[in-house]
Amino acid sequence: MAASSQTLRAPAAPARSAVAAALGEMESGRLDGLTPAELLRWAVQRFHPRLALACSFGNPEGLVLLDMLHRIEPRARVWTLDTGRLPQETHDLVDRVRDRYDITVEVVLPDAVAVQQMVQRHGMNLFYESLEKRRLCCRLRKVEPNRRFLAGLDGYITGLRREQNITRQNARRVEVEDGGRMVKINPLVDWRAEQVWDYVREHSVPVNRLHARGYPSVGCAPCSRAVQPGEDPRGGRWWWELPETKECGLHGEEESIGSGI
Ligand code: SF4
Repeated sequence: MAASSQTLRAPAAPARSAVAAALGEMESGRLDGLTPAELLRWAVQRFHPRLALACSFGNPEGLVLLDMLHRIEPRARVWTLDTGRLPQETHDLVDRVRDRYDITVEVVLPDAVAVQQMVQRHGMNLFYESLEKRRLCCRLRKVEPNRRFLAGLDGYITGLRREQNITRQNARRVEVEDGGRMVKINPLVDWRAEQVWDYVREHSVPVNRLHARGYPSVGCAPCSRAVQPGEDPRGGRWWWELPETKECGLHGEEESIGSGI
């Protein structure tokens, strides 16, 4: 008698075993020589659909990874945080990408009540007043919604590169976070900016229009500005702060869990 499809189907592997297997591959050095596309393919095989790409739509790295990932798995998941303070050019790019790749971008919003209470108490532009208030705004508009989204994943992909900022110099290609529950994959960690832009040109990858107006990195509108030629590319983000504080809490310096935004 033929076995039923029920008896033939392998049980779904528990998430923790996928993360543990990934850890073993990492420690064995098997992932060391992989190209970014090969590392993405490995991540898809290991974790999809409990895997997603963090894309801010404000840096070319996320779009390069989106393009690579889409060639590997057209149903690969992509998410972005809409903080409520993004420039129009970033929203435009989200729609251009949806049309170009025919994908759904998962847009994650902050908790409306928490943001309402924050601005009623501290004002609309609290971030200029102190580092504490700037971090509060980033926490409510980015870190908390990001944490909610990540709770449904086992692995996520970011566009972090070591040369982007002093705070990113210890980033690795594959990292484990959240007490071993989550794998963070940074395929471009050792790429230089020229490699990113070469890929953009070669594959006609859509990028944020503000790059052409002097913004190397586009975040929220009130916290991003253009830089002069030769100036530090991260100099336009939170330009009133010291380089060592220029992170929004998404990359582990304030929180135990992060993203590529
Ligand atoms: S980048 Fe600026 S506006 Fe955006 S969440 Fe952080 S402090 Fe708030």
